[in-house]
Amino acid sequence: MLELDEIQRIFQAQRSHRRVMRHTTAAERVERLERLRAEILTRQGEIGRAIHEDLGRPADNRDELQTVMGNLDKVRDELADWMAPLPVEKSPATPAAERIFVKYEPRGVVLLFGTWDFPIGMFFSPLIQAVAAGNVVLAKTSSMAPATGAVIEQIVRAVFDEREVAVFKDNDVTTPDGVRSTNDVLLDLPIDHIFLTGSPRVGKIIVEKAAQHMASFTLELGGKSPAIVDRTIDLNLVAQAFLGGKIYNHGQTCLSVDYVWVPADLRDAFVETYVAAVKRAYYDETGEFQWQRDGRFVDKRNYERVKGYLDEAIARGAIVAFGGRTDADNLVIEPTVLLDVPRDTRIVQEEIFGPILPVLTYTDEEEIFTHSDSLGKPLGFSVYSRDDAFIERMLDNTTSGGVTINGHAVHWAEENLPFGGVNSSGYGRYHGVWGFRELSNARSVFHVAVD
Ligand code: NAD
Repeated sequence: MLELDEIQRIFQAQRSHRRVMRHTTAAERVERLERLRAEILTRQGEIGRAIHEDLGRPADNRDELQTVMGNLDKVRDELADWMAPLPVEKSPATPAAERIFVKYEPRGVVLLFGTWDFPIGMFFSPLIQAVAAGNVVLAKTSSMAPATGAVIEQIVRAVFDEREVAVFKDNDVTTPDGVRSTNDVLLDLPIDHIFLTGSPRVGKIIVEKAAQHMASFTLELGGKSPAIVDRTIDLNLVAQAFLGGKIYNHGQTCLSVDYVWVPADLRDAFVETYVAAVKRAYYDETGEFQWQRDGRFVDKRNYERVKGYLDEAIARGAIVAFGGRTDADNLVIEPTVLLDVPRDTRIVQEEIFGPILPVLTYTDEEEIFTHSDSLGKPLGFSVYSRDDAFIERMLDNTTSGGVTINGHAVHWAEENLPFGGVNSSGYGRYHGVWGFRELSNARSVFHVAVD
């Protein structure tokens, strides 16, 4: 149980501290972030064990740490340039200028919500950018990854003064109006900026809450990210990319390949190639799925949600071309390939977030465009083709936050590209300089020349 007074005390302390952080130099911010790096590295064993406990990934998996180290390197190397005033060319219509520039100043108090699918990366990546931009941060870990949340709390407390970064977990908060959740209490504070990584459902709540205080916000959401396969591509390349795209983390990634379009006459060849790759990577010689290699569902609710989608699709006539076995004790569903899935089933309509791959077929590209248009705008999109004209048609007739051509989610890993969603998949961009700017106020300054 937490007291409302305690949250309000920390918030007020952070508000008063905004000016101190605003005046920190690039070197001072980098110094804080290098302490964060050292603390994370010291605790990498603990982090691995916590992620294993929460998600079943191998305890020696360091993928999330690598992402965070990459973010820290980028900030260390480039922050001074990002912070420098950005000179702008004067247009003919305005008076003579002494100078014109954009000055990036911190937004102030940033409220950050982490998610559970990548509990380290999706917490520290935005935190690093918020600190780099000179903000103070109130952060909330996800209760669905509690072991990792506990390690995050220790790391943050060891590195930051609570006036700079304070971390909360889901809790009951006693208030004069009764018991409320930490989320609700935090969202009622007059925060300057809210940064959410999470679902479109919570994204809508954040937008309403932000409106109370006219807070700015960044929404890193999800959606149904499709992959489009053209006949000019080697199917082995596609199948290999889909292992990371569909099975890694048991399909619980925001850029997971939600479903795939293949030319109708290549469907069986595609399924055969994909299944062969899955078996090589994830099955032992007795034909058992080795889920321990990359993780399981985070909890029973998610296992049952995805199992419900699968049961419904089968009941409605979908064909299981591979997999389909479920294991409630271990919270696992076998990598599954579904064919002939009715378009109005939940597995086609909702974000799956699990290792099931519906295979849709096309004879006319128009079917792809009409279908993806009806499902909201996705976070990611991948095209597999050697034909530049095909790729251009796909880019010109669909939309998404980002695109990778001939690979899985590489656009996310490239920090020089802005990362984010569009409409239902999110609002705002981060990574590299884009994240620094997202978490800053771009203040326009026009200094008129006087004699
Ligand atoms: P979620 O929306 O349920 O929760 C996300 C965070 O919001 C949690 O910390 C949660 O406690 C907090 N939250 C704040 N206010 C809340 C409220 N009123 N009610 C409930 N939660 C509240 O998301 P999730 O299930 O943890 O994550 C899965 C979703 O996140 C998927 O849609 C996935 O695609 C998306 N995702 C997006 C990215 C990205 O970078 N765009 C990355 C990872 C996951």
